[in-house]
Amino acid sequence: MFEKLSERLGGVLDKLTKRGQLSEADVDEALREVRVALLEADAALPVVKDFITAVRAEAVGEKVTKSVTPGQMVIKIVHDELVKVLKAQGNEAPGLDLTHTPPVPILMLGLQGSGKTTSTAKISRRFAEKQGKKVLMASLDTRRPAAQQQLAILGEQTGIKTLPIIPGEPPVAIAKRAMNTGRLEGYDIVMLDTAGRLAIDDELMAELAEVRDAVKPHESLLVADAMTGQDAVNTAKHFQDKIGITGIMLTRIDGDARGGAALSMRAVTGKPIKLLGTGEKLDAIEDFHADRVAGRILG
Ligand code: GDP
Repeated sequence: MFEKLSERLGGVLDKLTKRGQLSEADVDEALREVRVALLEADAALPVVKDFITAVRAEAVGEKVTKSVTPGQMVIKIVHDELVKVLKAQGNEAPGLDLTHTPPVPILMLGLQGSGKTTSTAKISRRFAEKQGKKVLMASLDTRRPAAQQQLAILGEQTGIKTLPIIPGEPPVAIAKRAMNTGRLEGYDIVMLDTAGRLAIDDELMAELAEVRDAVKPHESLLVADAMTGQDAVNTAKHFQDKIGITGIMLTRIDGDARGGAALSMRAVTGKPIKLLGTGEKLDAIEDFHADRVAGRILG
């Protein structure tokens, strides 16, 4: 479907004679192809522009060794720069941080359909199975009638406890009750699955801010669908500005999406991509590895 960057660049650069180092003209010609590749991978234009500027500064004047072609040289520079941007403070796979007095409150945020509820169950199951943690899940989505039941069903499937549902209880009260139960019953982690909307709205943001202030989450994880590409950037920026996030879980990376959204969201929010959703099944969750996603973005 996509032309690989190496093929694109091969056509442009490898016919150039090796001059011992990459000239500005070589680099600019190559970077035009890199730009197209990143935009095709659904990275946002302003992010791509900044990225290209950084790569250009790296690449011009770079010595081309005899063992590689100028094309391979540029690909390596682009790949390395991409890994640098995607990596969080040099941390290869940052994951969720649990260094907090239990129960650790983790707020799950995101638009409706982003995979928030599924990801809540995936993360909870992983903590329980891999680290033996006692996890409590609670749905704060009182708007969508089936949402609380959906989490309860996932709880039954995974063997993770969910907070009993009290019809009509408002989201902040549910969050506080979940934390109280967590404290009283000795839970390590309380996962709070918040309500989503199809689009961002002020009412939702006010509700989420109230929940945030009530529970002071240790992690606020934005769940974003990799397939939404450009929209993911606006969503991430909005959640970061209004609620504040500590990281991102990118879902549906098992689909056709090339992952440009990872680059955009990382660049726009400054927050790390922590986890990847790789399928519908409850074990389809992986740590984020910058080099793998860089490879995917470049094709
Ligand atoms: P929510 O509205 O944000 O809570 O979204 P849901 O958790 O209900 O997920 C919506 C749909 O996306 C469901 O059918 C999930 O099975 C599916 N889904 C969630 N995460 C992934 C993923 O990583 N890959 C794929 N292929 N599907 C996913």
